[in-house]
Amino acid sequence: MKHFIFKLTISVFVWLFSVIIFAQQKPDYVIVIHGGAGVITKKNMTPEKEAAYRAKLNEALETGRKILEKGGTATETVIAVINIMEDSPLFNAGKGAVFTHDGKNELDASIMDGKTLNAGAVAGVTDVKNPITLAYAVMTKSKHVMLSGAGASQFAKEQGLEIVDPSYFYTENRWKSLQKVLQNEKNAEKEKHGTVGCAVLDKYGNLAAGTSTGGMTNKQYGRIGDSPVIGAGTYADNATCAVSCTGHGEFFIRYVVAYTVSALMKYKGLSLEEAGNEIINKTLKDVGGEGGLISVDKDGNIAMPFNTPGMFRGYLKSTGEKKVLIYKN
Ligand code: ASP
Repeated sequence: MKHFIFKLTISVFVWLFSVIIFAQQKPDYVIVIHGGAGVITKKNMTPEKEAAYRAKLNEALETGRKILEKGGTATETVIAVINIMEDSPLFNAGKGAVFTHDGKNELDASIMDGKTLNAGAVAGVTDVKNPITLAYAVMTKSKHVMLSGAGASQFAKEQGLEIVDPSYFYTENRWKSLQKVLQNEKNAEKEKHGTVGCAVLDKYGNLAAGTSTGGMTNKQYGRIGDSPVIGAGTYADNATCAVSCTGHGEFFIRYVVAYTVSALMKYKGLSLEEAGNEIINKTLKDVGGEGGLISVDKDGNIAMPFNTPGMFRGYLKSTGEKKVLIYKN
């Protein structure tokens, strides 16, 4: 009997020890995504709409899982995941982009590789189906970081990317939003969500982040937001973290939000969660800068802070953890 109790105690200890070790183990890979932050509440959502958003976020995560599982890289995953959301009319990126004051769609996107600190970005694109793919081409096939407007479109053609008629980006929903805003400028605040973003840690320990958007409803011609600005809307550094932002772009540019998360970790030793909270829930909140971000650090921790009523978001880890969330709680 004594022997049995001894053996049982040892087994329990071994089991407990492995559970603790497993829980602390760095995941092989992590994907974290957002589909925009803003006035997203249960009240202004129907069950059908909510189900559609959840399904698309889930599809984006699972697409990323397949790539990472097979040994794909962080940048490859960021592009594929964002392509799924760009092709969906649910989000303000690619198909479904919001309209400018003049009734046009002008798209911005950027991507950054945390291993090399290489980056690519495009701004004010009107006829390229997947702006994140073009941003990646700028990073890998040009000697520049950012291309805009007609030049970006010319480069896309030269690279053989899919070009569409600008009418491809039209959705009735976004058109109605613009009309509503034009009738009552105050509503503008409520209509600016849906940007998409993705941050990834791959099996090789590399981080990458990307963001794609139509910008803000009723924006002035030529306005560029934070999404294509490296350091503001997107940042990745293998030494710290990968970050993609969403929200009122002018604030995110002025407070260099994505890079600030990395800098707070690097120079002040803050954790990913502390750094994200500092910039989103203190600095930006205090000045009325609405929005949020998604992020993953080099150890596979994630943080998704936001200071708006909701943010479409989700994450998945190789360890089996997975969540898709919309509202504050
Ligand atoms: N940050 C984007 C912009 O200002 C908009 C958004 O994320 O909702 O262009």
